[in-house]
Amino acid sequence: MSELNEQQMEQLRTALARRHAELARDIREDLKATGSERYADLAGEVNDSGDESVADQMVDLNAAMIERELGELKAVEAARKRFDDGEYGECIDCGVDIPFARLFAYPAATRCIACQSQRERTYAQGRSASL
Ligand SMILES: [Zn+2]
Repeated sequence: MSELNEQQMEQLRTALARRHAELARDIREDLKATGSERYADLAGEVNDSGDESVADQMVDLNAAMIERELGELKAVEAARKRFDDGEYGECIDCGVDIPFARLFAYPAATRCIACQSQRERTYAQGRSASL
């Protein structure tokens, strides 16, 4: 565990729990809004059957949003697990303690700012290269 004090840990634990509840609620509401049982499957796999309609396109918009929310939900759950494991707050790439300010802004953060920006640069390069 990083050098967070008790009070900071409690703030982050609360922030994670709140974010988790928010995401779970949003996803539930979005699923309801799609009106489609198909998307109750939280795997996030988009169906590839050919029958497209306006309704399906609207569902697709929702599906993209739900997928993003699910991605964050997974990140938050992973962060809570690291919390339980005593590994929370350490950069998963270089192992340094992630500053409290960054964790407070983004409790699911897994990397220090240096590693995160390094990763985003690499990712952005990879993407533009494939265009
Ligand atoms: Zn790092």
